[in-house]
Amino acid sequence: MLIFMKKTKKVPSMRPSFSRRDMVWWCDTCHTPLLAGTCSHCGKPAREIRLTPPGDARPAFSFDIALVNQVFSDHFGNPLIPSGHLALLNKVPDPDRMDEIIVGGGVAGSLKYIPAEHRWEPIPRPEASVFLTPTRRYVVVDNGAVPSIQGEGASVLAPGLIEIERSVRKGDEVFVMDEGRHVVAVGRAKVDAGEAESMDRGAIIRTRRNIPSTCVPGEATWADAVAANAKPLEGRESEAISFIRDIVSKNPIPVNVSYSGGKDSLATLILVKKALGAIPLLFADTGLEFPETYRNVEEVSQYYGMPVIRAGGESAFWRRFETMGPPAVDFRWCCRTAKLTPMETLIRQQWGECLSFIGQRKYESFRRMMSGRVWRNPHLHSQLSAAPIHHWTALYVWLYLFREGAPYNTLYEQGLDRIGCFMCPSSDIAVLRHIARTHPDIWQRWNEKLEEWQKQQGLSAAWIDEARWRIRGVPGEEDSNC
Ligand SMILES: [Zn+2]
Repeated sequence: MLIFMKKTKKVPSMRPSFSRRDMVWWCDTCHTPLLAGTCSHCGKPAREIRLTPPGDARPAFSFDIALVNQVFSDHFGNPLIPSGHLALLNKVPDPDRMDEIIVGGGVAGSLKYIPAEHRWEPIPRPEASVFLTPTRRYVVVDNGAVPSIQGEGASVLAPGLIEIERSVRKGDEVFVMDEGRHVVAVGRAKVDAGEAESMDRGAIIRTRRNIPSTCVPGEATWADAVAANAKPLEGRESEAISFIRDIVSKNPIPVNVSYSGGKDSLATLILVKKALGAIPLLFADTGLEFPETYRNVEEVSQYYGMPVIRAGGESAFWRRFETMGPPAVDFRWCCRTAKLTPMETLIRQQWGECLSFIGQRKYESFRRMMSGRVWRNPHLHSQLSAAPIHHWTALYVWLYLFREGAPYNTLYEQGLDRIGCFMCPSSDIAVLRHIARTHPDIWQRWNEKLEEWQKQQGLSAAWIDEARWRIRGVPGEEDSNC
């Protein structure tokens, strides 16, 4: 006899139950992401992708795809993202780091970092089975159990279990398959495989309900994606160029572009050059930039023929570190010390006042969502700031940079999605550990500074090992421009 537990209360979803719309579409003919509801290449209507908010998805580079595929292969026996397929990553709210993986125009799963275990966890959705046939971490259930599992979100119970793959351990993510080996659900194991085999009753797998996605396999390149988005890219570009010319005509003061070495400021620079010609690049050198960033600033300056004017904040940062210790998420004294004050000094010396175009986007944070497209930072009053790409998503920026063949920072191809100071306390632990591996020299120097402060203050070893220095737990100075 088969008995399946009917849930009396709904399982709390791991993610918010609402989803973000009007951000990304997909063309199932061209197999590319779209910025609008119609494909510029084939002219066909596109399918909207429902993303977890904020929904600012970005392209997965080869490093990202390799990481996703390695984590899924280690756990399920096979990779998730097939070669030649375009994929997006959508960073979602998480205690540390989690990204939704969009492939074939649907959410096929997520990748989650578990800091305490120093590892990534693959979290599939049932649609992952479009691309991946699990050879590990699966269970097979009696076909009679499928309707209640799929329809009611019932757990997989011992009486309905036909097979449990022997590497399954309690807490593992698993695929649930029917007798024909079709994936019908995903969930988390409540017991080890060995224990499950000896059970006559009780729950084996707690299944998880998800917002359904549609995944359609098909190969494409990012050049195809640029062609499929020709119209929206042209539209946003001409709007931004008009905005730049309009602001300049209304504010007859010296003008420059703020360049950080990041993708958003690069897109801004290209737009400004098209609108105004070559003007100076303003670079806030905190002394805490990656070597790749310094190289990129030089390369971009030469490529576009725009001179760099540098504001140095390194010595001020280390002087302040002596008395304040490292900056923390809730104690970010760094931005004002290493960026805003040196920039204010520089602008006053050079021009008295200036208009700077800045690569700030409203989708980056709630605070930026609330700020306008033109503003003055209270700690940097000599600079009138304007953001031509305020309304652009990350995907707009990337497709624009691909279209332009722009020399973007190589760090984006090495697993970083956000580029600033290498030790930024706002970074996820996943990202900081990645940087410690890829940039051992600069990380070692930072670690030595942390150790000095730890000894001086009598702090525990965990303060460094568990990256507790990132959170001070006291209200601190308001960050205003990081
Ligand atoms: Zn198309």
